[in-house]
Amino acid sequence: MVVVLAGCGTNQGSGTVSGSNTLPASTNDNQVVNIYTARHYEADTTLFQNFTKQTGIKVNVVSGKAEELIERLKREGQNTEADLFITVDGGVLNAAKEAAVLQSIVSEQINANVPSNLRDVDNHWVGLATRARVIVYAKDRVQPEQLSTYEALTSDQWKGKVLVRSSTSLYNQSLLASFIAIEGEKMAEDWAKGIVTNLAKKPEGGDRDQAKAIAAGVGDLAIMNTYYVGLMHHSADPEEVKVAQQLGVFFPNQQTTGTHINISGIGLTKYSKNKENALRLIEYLTAPEAQSELSKLNFEFPVNADAQLPDLLNSWGTFTKQNLDFSTLGLYNKKAMEIFHKVGWQ
Ligand code: FE
Repeated sequence: MVVVLAGCGTNQGSGTVSGSNTLPASTNDNQVVNIYTARHYEADTTLFQNFTKQTGIKVNVVSGKAEELIERLKREGQNTEADLFITVDGGVLNAAKEAAVLQSIVSEQINANVPSNLRDVDNHWVGLATRARVIVYAKDRVQPEQLSTYEALTSDQWKGKVLVRSSTSLYNQSLLASFIAIEGEKMAEDWAKGIVTNLAKKPEGGDRDQAKAIAAGVGDLAIMNTYYVGLMHHSADPEEVKVAQQLGVFFPNQQTTGTHINISGIGLTKYSKNKENALRLIEYLTAPEAQSELSKLNFEFPVNADAQLPDLLNSWGTFTKQNLDFSTLGLYNKKAMEIFHKVGWQ
């Protein structure tokens, strides 16, 4: 069974690299590395295949929801076949650390590849890529000069114009958690309430669906992750390309608290039996070549400063990010859910 992270795009492959729910038994030649992953992107599969081509080390992948994979690692204990754990979201990465299923990644190379602000303080996980949650607007109806902050989306000016997916999405939960951490509960609640007031329609679908609703004229602005804009621009579906071409990308809060970013990361399991191979794969994934490839294929921002950005990401320019410890996102997840419930953000 391959479980795709709830609410994410459906037209992304869920992996062809040994994507079963069980891993083959360890082999004695050690030329294998086993991954539990909650990421659902074709780009990851391509990188694993490239790694195998380069090193001869076979990559086995089990896909699932992050919480379930962490539970599984706990349950399997020292009998686990998994060497690596991969997921989206700093809060979830920290949850894996707190579940004591990971160990320190000790590698000069990896430390050189990934800056310390994109790694766990004890190196229980290191970043693979980041994405920003931004404001996407209808280029024919909105001027970027009219936009400024996440907070400004709650003004009367945008009544009936704002599109965003449901609060069951971890992307929205971590966005609100970041506001709680930086600006406090009151601001976070006022903001969520204001967004609900300004919604163009009931929250449903994924980030891409919000973009499509802009193109259909249902609303003018959407809160979306940057990589979906890139994936739509380069989609095999000409309709998605047409939609993407009508959209502008705006990085909010540049003069204030910065744009919300979240991170994907990789951790070495506590009982990894193929540790050398696992470390080699992390080194490979964080080196400039794989980082450039990941950004080119999935339109995430690389963690390695020496990686190259695709033209689209370069065209967006640099931007100021929230200054936030990623583990905070998990700390305020429950509070964020309470607020969403209270203000009626479905
Ligand atoms: Fe996604």
